[in-house]
Amino acid sequence: MEKEPSIHLSLEQVHQLSYRSLLACGCDQANARAVADTITAAERDCCHSHGLFRLSGYIASLKSGKVNGHADPQLEQLAPAVLRIHGDNGYAPLALQRGRDPLIGCARKQGIAALSIIHTHHFAALWMEVSALVEQGLCAFAFTAYMPCVAPAGGSKPFYGTNPMAFGWPRKGVPPMVFDQASAAMARGEIMLAQQAGLPVSEGVGLDLNGHPTTDPGAILEGAQLAFGGHKGAALALMIELLVGPLLGERCSFEAAEADNGDGGPSRGGELLLAIDPARFGDPDHWADHAERVFTRLLEQPGTRLPADRRYQGREQTRLHGIKISSTLFAKIHALAGITPGESFLHQ
Ligand code: NDP
Repeated sequence: MEKEPSIHLSLEQVHQLSYRSLLACGCDQANARAVADTITAAERDCCHSHGLFRLSGYIASLKSGKVNGHADPQLEQLAPAVLRIHGDNGYAPLALQRGRDPLIGCARKQGIAALSIIHTHHFAALWMEVSALVEQGLCAFAFTAYMPCVAPAGGSKPFYGTNPMAFGWPRKGVPPMVFDQASAAMARGEIMLAQQAGLPVSEGVGLDLNGHPTTDPGAILEGAQLAFGGHKGAALALMIELLVGPLLGERCSFEAAEADNGDGGPSRGGELLLAIDPARFGDPDHWADHAERVFTRLLEQPGTRLPADRRYQGREQTRLHGIKISSTLFAKIHALAGITPGESFLHQ
């Protein structure tokens, strides 16, 4: 098969392309910048399934009017350690930016704090919001749900979202440990990328429309994904549905699907962030060194690494070599946004 030509971009060009496209399709500057920051961070860390690849979905949901490109998220305090951001039906990144400092302040004061984010459309990786908290010396968790893709244990039809969860731990002098994983065996974006590349996926990733196991990504996208680890991953997917649906007063995955207009962009939903100040728990003087001993002992085993290390290596590769995207994707983004390639790299 002939290899598709690719285009080299700097991170600044990735940002400009995203920002210009979003502005052209109905975002105001604050929302366009927040989403462009998110797309650029994903490309920087070589998480391409949440980078420019997502721009067509963002554009579709702006054009259909599902998402408010002028959203003005508002913060309120529900209890001493419980904050809430109403996202004004916009994308999650601006709501997350506005909630970050109040959540950090609240966690430092109370020892532990929660941020409920409602009426937003989340289309990105969770490690970004977790990292922003962990880089301030806090431990953090994040949970969100998406439209039904994953069959419940024993079932064969989509019910749970791919429902990701992330956890981060701060470290002295080195980047934090952060894991971020879907409760599906494989992220949906990765299955879509495999389909585009004409490659099979591993066994255990999903079922076809008739409920039979398959490695064909197209058949899985039509059928159902499976949770990782069988019933155990499915239980985590259920936990996330309850945390971001009934707990926050937002839509669960099946409710989001029923309300969605099917434009291919992110559905409306909620996100729960939890932040913990380790200095306010039982071992304020030693927790960091104690954790380092855990990491050191773990890494003594050959073949091990810490979660997020692949991203940090990817970040270094990007610094050295920039980003490569397919010329098809590059052209598609420009066509969808109705801008010429030169325009997308113009500075404001
Ligand atoms: P992966 O299975 O690729 O990785 C999961 C985690 O495990 C990562 O933190 C990864 O770190 C770590 N890891 C992988 N291999 C090892 C190893 N050998 N040793 C130690 N740690 C390891 O992730 P998923 O495909 O499940 O990720 C899905 C992504 O999609 C997430 O970013 C999630 O937030 C996002 N998502 C977003 C949704 C939304 O609605 N917004 C819905 C569903 C998913 P590393 O990164 O360093 O490899």
